[in-house]
Amino acid sequence: MADWKDLADLIFPELDETILDLEKKYPARQNSVCSRFAPSPTGFLHIWGVFAALVAWRFVKQNNWTFILRIEDTDQKRKIDWAVESLLNSMKTFWITIDEWNIGNDWENVWDYGPYTQSERKKLYHIFVKELIAKWLAYPCWMTNEEIDNIRDQQQKSKIMPWIYGNYSIYRNKTVGELINKIKENNNFIIRFRSHGDTQKKIVFDDILRWKVNMWDNYNDIVLIKSDGLPTYHLAHIVDDYLMRVSHIIRAEERLTSVPLHLQLFEAFGLPAPKYCHLAQILKIDSETNKKRKLSKRQDPEADVEYFFQNAYSTQWILDYLYTIMDSGFEEWQKANPDKSFLDRDFVLENMNKSGALFDLTKMESVNNDYLSRISTDQLLKETIERAEKYNIELADLMKKDINYTRSALDIERHTPKDPKRFTTFKDVDTQLSFFFDSEYEKMIDSVKIKIKNWDEFFQNIIKLDVLVVSNFIDEYLWVLDLELTVEEWFEQLKKIWKKYWFAWNNAEFKEWGYIWKIWDLAMLIRLWLCASTKTPDLFSVMKVMGKDKIEKRLKTFVNL
Ligand code: GLU
Repeated sequence: MADWKDLADLIFPELDETILDLEKKYPARQNSVCSRFAPSPTGFLHIWGVFAALVAWRFVKQNNWTFILRIEDTDQKRKIDWAVESLLNSMKTFWITIDEWNIGNDWENVWDYGPYTQSERKKLYHIFVKELIAKWLAYPCWMTNEEIDNIRDQQQKSKIMPWIYGNYSIYRNKTVGELINKIKENNNFIIRFRSHGDTQKKIVFDDILRWKVNMWDNYNDIVLIKSDGLPTYHLAHIVDDYLMRVSHIIRAEERLTSVPLHLQLFEAFGLPAPKYCHLAQILKIDSETNKKRKLSKRQDPEADVEYFFQNAYSTQWILDYLYTIMDSGFEEWQKANPDKSFLDRDFVLENMNKSGALFDLTKMESVNNDYLSRISTDQLLKETIERAEKYNIELADLMKKDINYTRSALDIERHTPKDPKRFTTFKDVDTQLSFFFDSEYEKMIDSVKIKIKNWDEFFQNIIKLDVLVVSNFIDEYLWVLDLELTVEEWFEQLKKIWKKYWFAWNNAEFKEWGYIWKIWDLAMLIRLWLCASTKTPDLFSVMKVMGKDKIEKRLKTFVNL
């Protein structure tokens, strides 16, 4: 009579190693504490990912323990080719050092506990599952989506605990003989865990931040191996963290509800469970609902670390911000110890806040705005060019070609009593600088023209001006334009012309004195034509920096429209 071991051999005939062999190959570590960062390579790193990596890294490195990077790529459909490289770059940027990882040519594994990429560890997962099958703790399953949906409907209608377990699992109670026969006719199956959990039982387990956690036990026969032969997160977590001898699992709080299942799996394998620490999410106040919610990669650009680099927040600045989330006493301590860094301070995992920290972009922006407003224009120029060299090479070249012009453009209104502090991030620097350069201006004005599309409608309904009046005004204005004037003289000169064309200076003039047009509509139009943007610094200052030739050239294209 065939037994469960025969079934295991039939499913994995080529495997002869056992968990015991693997334990010898990956022995307990000499320094027993080890933690890891285990991202999935599905895109840019989430700011929460940096936070989690930082916590695990800081926790182990302050005692010179081991920090591992593991790539969790079992969801092959969501995998993105460049993600690992970008992830490694982010680690480097944040000075997070990795002790163990695939290195060398072709990711050859030179470290003792690798490979560190899950898709290369298939055989290890199979060895583990093979033993569970032989111990009657896992079984093959052929249930179709339709069958699963039917069961879910049935459970919902009868208000019975959902999921695949007990008699709701079609293959759980089949005999070895039946399963062997089924495999012979159809080898397209997945492997499920045979849970011995009880739908009515609660368990208590330890979490470093949350102390004793009380939760319903797992009773679901969850999937261990998917139809592509790769493991689910749950099995991979057990196998990898055990074989890599990870002692502290520091991960997202969403995983907390899986702990009962993970403890069952460790028990089923007869292995000790590691210590768990579930980190709170980073939250934000939703601008529409005004309620706290998780910072989401899909909805919030600031969830992506690239956002901060593109907008040029400094790395140190992001780190300090994350340190304050990790350690509520850090900000005050840093004020008292300005020349020390976070690394000089003891980090106690247990003291971290277990409710989600609020990510306050407004605060971050205001700190960045203060910084960009405070520094000298030479420093701003230097940082602007450095950043553009990385993110906007064309603009960097333009700036370098005419450094003095660029400097004057940046310097407008800075450090004056009326300084509007117009740069919050370097994105603002880019947009308020680009139009000074003809090649960038051309691109921008082309897209303005495309947007306007219908000129008659634009003049009648949006700008509410007569195109001929504007052309005449501009013609006359260009005739007298003198950039040597003071701002007051310039204004007086301009005023004479606009009065002549019946432009009102304010609403009262417009309503009560019979003026036909409004000067602010005209100012907006000129701004748009000169800068291809309606958001610009003080117009006269802009014109002074640009010089008469450029102004004439740009405004004349309008007159000839
Ligand atoms: N790959 C998992 C994730 O990105 C890691 C969870 C863990 O740290 O165990 O959510």
